[in-house]
Amino acid sequence: MKKHYEVIVVGGGIIGTSIAYHLAKAGKKTAVFESGEVGKKATHAAAGMLGAHAECDKPGTFFQFARASQQVYQQLTIELKNNSGIDIRRHDGGILKIAFTESDRERLMRMAALDSAEWLTAEQVVDMEPDVTKDIIGANFIADDVHVEPIAVCKAFAKGARLFGADIFEYTPVIAIDTDSGVQIQTALGTVEAEHIVIACGVWSGPFFKQLGINKSFYPVKGECLSVWNDRIPLVRTLYHDHCYIVPRHNGKLIIGATMKPKNWDERPELGGIKAIIEKAKTMIPEIDKLKIDRCWAGLRPATVDGNPYIGHHPINNRILFAAGHFRNGILLAPATGEMIRDLIIGQPVKPAWIEAFKLERTEVVIE
Ligand SMILES: Cc1cc2nc3c(=O)[nH]c(=O)nc-3n(C[C@H](O)[C@H](O)[C@H](O)COP(=O)(O)OP(=O)(O)OC[C@H]3O[C@@H](n4cnc5c(N)ncnc54)[C@H](O)[C@@H]3O)c2cc1C
Repeated sequence: MKKHYEVIVVGGGIIGTSIAYHLAKAGKKTAVFESGEVGKKATHAAAGMLGAHAECDKPGTFFQFARASQQVYQQLTIELKNNSGIDIRRHDGGILKIAFTESDRERLMRMAALDSAEWLTAEQVVDMEPDVTKDIIGANFIADDVHVEPIAVCKAFAKGARLFGADIFEYTPVIAIDTDSGVQIQTALGTVEAEHIVIACGVWSGPFFKQLGINKSFYPVKGECLSVWNDRIPLVRTLYHDHCYIVPRHNGKLIIGATMKPKNWDERPELGGIKAIIEKAKTMIPEIDKLKIDRCWAGLRPATVDGNPYIGHHPINNRILFAAGHFRNGILLAPATGEMIRDLIIGQPVKPAWIEAFKLERTEVVIE
């Protein structure tokens, strides 16, 4: 096994593989070390919405970063197909954020002030999607909030990275990171050195932060989902209300998600969670409970105290970088995160507002 790389990425979820892809493409000799299989943790659980507008209800740096990442996906869809042969199954229908009450409407109207959101009346919504309940009072339509298949994106990043010369070691957990002389990782395969090490272990990044003297914590927000076979509801657009969504996939199935269970480390879906999201989905499409279950699953969103990811350098060791804590938006933010870490490593300019917003030393306002 090679004992030296320019960059080692610890963690092979969508964040780690995006970073590896962007660095390998830029000519950096890169290796990814992954505990299990690439893309099998939070990435595997995600619905794949690129919900820059669906997830932000106010303008600001997070929204700009999310929007930039969403826009990168437009060119990535073709680029990843060319460079890896994998279709990331971008689905262009957009999102309808539904309002049932006046307070829903007021919140959505504020969001409509952001670019690209358009307020539609209940009649317009039902014309577009005839299976939506007549109980709504309208919806925000966001054409740009498309979705992709997260596992396909992660596989495409990993394969593309390999084809640009990266090595990806699955079933090879990183046990420790040493900074005594240079930077190196300890694995079951031995010690491996690098010019730079990037920590991208999702919710499992905490122990590495601690080992490297950073006093930041992560906690899981468990999310449960199910997919259903669909032969009767011709849904084109994703429906979204109160953190519940119904996403139409290319293969005709619908994804229904997702619960939010903070500080729950159990990766198995619970009957109560699945029941709750079916009930919420029924409020949007009453007919949905006639569909047949395909499968249920759960995953752990990597949350930080202020809800924003940590993306940037270690405060005193420039050879160590972090890219973790993408919470509900890791699929959306993966391209911009990969580009940002690449640029920090190769010395290309990065927007100062992004460095400030995601740096480790920021002042954090705790989210509820
Ligand atoms: C139900 C659900 C729905 C979601 N829907 C969306 C959505 O629609 N859109 C969106 O943008 N986001 C969504 N998300 C959020 C998104 O899934 C996450 O933000 C994203 O997957 C985080 O990616 P990651 O690479 O940081 O973490 P992960 O995918 O968890 O990857 C971290 C990797 O690090 C590895 N690892 C851990 N410890 C070590 C170690 N010691 N050595 C080596 N490797 C290690 C793990 O095995 C894992 O593969 C959803 C999440 C859930 C749970």
